[in-house]
Parts: sequence; structure tokens; C-alpha cells
Amino acid sequence: MTRRTKIVATLGPVSSSYEQIKKLVEAGVNVCRINFSHGKHEDLVEVIQHIRNINEELGVHTAILGDLQGPKIRVGEMEPGTILEDGQEFILTNQKCVGNKEKAYISYQEIPKDVKAGELILMDDGKLQMEVISTNYEDQVILKVTHGGVLSSKKGVNLPNTKISQPCLTEKDLIDLDFCLEHNLDWIGLSFVRSARDIIELKHIISSKNKSSKVVAKIEKPEAIAELSDIIKITDAVMVARGDLGVEIPMQDVPLLQKKIVQKCLENAKPVIIATQMMESMIENIAPTRAEVTDVANAVMDGADAVMLSGETSVGAHPVEVIKAMCKIINKVEADYDQLYEQERVPEKNQERFITDSICFNACRLSARVDGKAIVTMTHSGYTGFKISSQRPRAKIFVFSGNKKLLTTMSLVWGVKTFYYDKMVSTDHTIADIKYLLKKEGFVKEGDLIINTASMPIEDKGNTNMLKLSYIE
Ligand code: PEP
Repeated sequence: MTRRTKIVATLGPVSSSYEQIKKLVEAGVNVCRINFSHGKHEDLVEVIQHIRNINEELGVHTAILGDLQGPKIRVGEMEPGTILEDGQEFILTNQKCVGNKEKAYISYQEIPKDVKAGELILMDDGKLQMEVISTNYEDQVILKVTHGGVLSSKKGVNLPNTKISQPCLTEKDLIDLDFCLEHNLDWIGLSFVRSARDIIELKHIISSKNKSSKVVAKIEKPEAIAELSDIIKITDAVMVARGDLGVEIPMQDVPLLQKKIVQKCLENAKPVIIATQMMESMIENIAPTRAEVTDVANAVMDGADAVMLSGETSVGAHPVEVIKAMCKIINKVEADYDQLYEQERVPEKNQERFITDSICFNACRLSARVDGKAIVTMTHSGYTGFKISSQRPRAKIFVFSGNKKLLTTMSLVWGVKTFYYDKMVSTDHTIADIKYLLKKEGFVKEGDLIINTASMPIEDKGNTNMLKLSYIE
């Protein structure tokens, strides 16, 4: 357990069996992502059970992220071999049909009402580009193809300039969300978030069903960038979904935006995942390109909590090798890149959690001063774990909790290792007991200085208000 940056792997046809998921977890996967754009609920039930059984068998806490498709817009079935030429006119219609060189069905009923002349429409990850000429406000939109190419069935459509009226949670998402909550998934990803209200709505549904799944806001729309601060404040975690993001905004804006989003997430103690095309060539090849190695390394240097794999682990030829390669890159950067660590973020005064925040801040500052080997926190909500992690201490972060759900949930968070603990005698007793357990399991050794944070008196289960520095005996 030396690696701090976590790995999220999307499961799919090549990684749904018990054996294959186990191999991925053994190789280093911390979070399994289930993408609701693909896969049937019946099959996913089995996958979820596999992950939980593997956790039992290996004594690990792999988290599960259910990624809702959101209002992803696609063209319908197309005649094979359809090629659109530069300069030609093309019609998009909300009436079902098999598409051809003249027109295509689009899965966005309101498109004739929402678009305006001059707006940009992109297809197949931006490979085809078109401009709106006119709309009849009812069932069809006439476009001019500015950059043509092959248009095949079900390709994605992006409308970066259009104010889309579709809700963020579609009917399909609501059904998938029910499934996620029924199966108590740790994290729920919301695609095409446009405003903080989208997150509030999702959180409201989760809490109204008495569930505690946490939310990942996927940043992939220009509107979300405009509302970034509010979204980061309200969400539990963020994903830089570079696939759609790089189509919706100019691709050259993505690298700096990635850094900005990571920084803002660190300031707000919200975990952030860097996603898409990280090791893309390994879908086919046994080794990544040098550019991919550098991309993963840069994400770690930026300060991401986690790096994510999509096709590489869901449909690729070498899913386990991808994880092994990613671990090597992360381990190297974490070993040699000093700037990653000990980022002091002074807590704001006069706010609700000032005492807890000050304890977390000073736990990290103290560990840097005394070369502490571990910061140990006891938490029910996870708050102190998130806060301590966001300061990126060099010391290991051990989170003890009686909240079983938290053990897996926190697997997404940089540097955090979780333990189940539900005894509650006294703060002194708990600290002594935890130190004994950590030494017995080989996580610390005699003579190590460790820092404990806790709430005193323990039976009040109050906010963290105490810091202790002591040696392992
Ligand atoms: C992305 O667009 O980068 C992304 C992660 O979204 P999805 O894989 O769900 O399309």
C-alpha cells in the first residue's frame, strides 16, 4: 500500500467475470466503474456481487461507481457506408427513420425548438462538423456540413453552443439510478452536468430514498465550466470527462482546464478523477505510447485523486497489463515528485467546521514537521479523511470507521486506506487499540511517530476536536 493515486477501471465484456475482476483488483484497481451506457441490469447484478465477493476474499475495499449516461445525444440507425460531403446540406429529424446521406434521426426530441441558425453541431467525437442553417421548430433541422466524413449508426452528437432543454436526469437515468440505489453503489456519476442544480436534484433523490451514495459530477459541458465553483462546492467528487469535454470546448483548452479543476477540487477537499484516453493505445497494444505515459504522469503531478480507464479495461486486449503499467507510472511519479506533497491549505476562520478543519490542517503540518509515518482518523461521515487527504501529507492516511459503506467509498480518495472499527470504550483506549492493530498488520513499526485525530469524549460521537502525537511501542 504505497501508491496514493487511485485507479478507476471501467468494467465491460472483457472484465466482467469473477476471475478477471479479481485479477484487476489484485493488479491495483481501487474503484470499478459500471457504465450504464452499456450493459443490462441482470448482468450488472452479477458483476456487483463479484466485486463484493472479491472484497471479502482479498480483504480489500474496492468501491463501485455507477456512471449514469445522462442526456447523451445520438443519431439513430444509418445505412451502412453513409458518407457526408463537405458543403452539402443534411437534415436532422426527431422522427424515427433509418438515416442516409440526406437525413438522420436524432435522439433529442426538442432539437428543432432549441437550436438557432449558426450554431455548431458535432458528430462522432467531433470528426464531423455542421452548422445550423434553419429549423422548422417542429420536427427537422437543416444543417450545412462544414467537415464531412463517414457517419455510422448511433454515433454521439454534441451541441456545444445550444442551450439544451433536456433534463440532466433522463428517464433511463432514473431507472438506472433506482438500480444503483437498490444495490447501494458507493458513487453515482452524473453525465453532462450543467449546473449545481443538477447535483442538488440527484442528491435530493438519493436522500429521499434514505441512501448514502455519493455523487461524482462529470465535467464535460461548457455550462459546467461556467458554474465550476458552485458545482464543486455541492458535489462529493468530480470527473474531468475529457472525451466529451474535448468536443464541447476547443481541445486545446482541456489541459489547462484539467489543472484548474484539480486545483479547485483540492481547495474544496473534493476528490477528482481524470478520465478518458489515458492509455487508449493499450486497447490493442501491449505497451502504452510515451505520450500516454506522460499523460498519466501529468495527471498524478497535477494532484488528481484518481486516474480512470474506459475502453482499455472494458473492451481492450490487455486489461491487467494496463493496470500494471499505470501502477508503475504512478509509483515513479509519487516517489520522485516532491511538489505533490504537503500542500498547506489554511482553513477559513468562523465557519461551521473550523475546529475539525483546523485539527486536520495541523495534523498534516505536524506530520511534516516530525516526519510522522501515519495520520490516523476515526470518522463516521468520512469528513476528516477527505480533509486530511486534500492536504496531500507524506504520512500514510489511515481511516477507521464503523460505517461499512465508508470503507469502500473512500477507496476513491488519494492516499486513504480504510479499516473497520466499531469499538467505543474511550478515546485513550481506542487510540491504543488502533496503534496495536496497525502494528500487528505491519502498517507501522516500533519507533514510528503517528498522529491521531479523534473526537473527545468519544461517546458523544461529536466533531473531531483532538490531535495526539505518539510513538508506536
Ligand atoms: C468522457 O466523455 O470522457 C466520459 C468519461 O464519459 P463517458 O465515458 O460516459 O462517455
